[in-house]
Amino acid sequence: MSSCLSVTNAVEHAFCPRFTYFQLVLGIEQREGKRGTVQSGRAFHSGHSTTNKTYKLKRLEGTKLTELLLFSKKYSFSGKIDEAIETDDQILIIERKYSDYIFIGSTLKTQLGLLAILAEENTGKKANQAIVVFDKKERVEVPVKITEKIKQTALEVLQKTRYTISTGDMPFSKHDNRCLNCCYRKICP
Ligand code: SF4
Repeated sequence: MSSCLSVTNAVEHAFCPRFTYFQLVLGIEQREGKRGTVQSGRAFHSGHSTTNKTYKLKRLEGTKLTELLLFSKKYSFSGKIDEAIETDDQILIIERKYSDYIFIGSTLKTQLGLLAILAEENTGKKANQAIVVFDKKERVEVPVKITEKIKQTALEVLQKTRYTISTGDMPFSKHDNRCLNCCYRKICP
């Protein structure tokens, strides 16, 4: 396995480190197609980022950017920013979630932290703000400050993902509510 990981790899590691083990050590792909929430989320994402290229959150001035495929030479990882607003001196990341569960947890922070690092390295502009739009039954916009700590923690998750791949050992993870809809639950000890 190449050391060049994606933001998605790190986000999945943040969700459960055993995803890295099953997927990137053993090579067992996720059966994501069976997970309705993932499918719905994808449809929602692409609807905004590709078919509505002029749509912007009302109060934001700047140029809308979509579908940015970026690579970090410094940290050797890649990722895609679905949507962002670029101003003279900063990049504001917009992340959309098809969910009514308003929560900025470790997976989302990992995602935003790594996307901000990609944006900064590739544009030379600051990326320390995001807006997360939760939209299912109700629409809620949550501003998130992407602090240096969030970026540093996200890089640590990326590093842990690499470490799991390099050792080939199954990491510890406790069983909890995440397991209920997990595609690996039948093979996870
Ligand atoms: S069943 Fe639970 S512990 Fe196992 S991979 Fe899935 S989420 Fe992680």
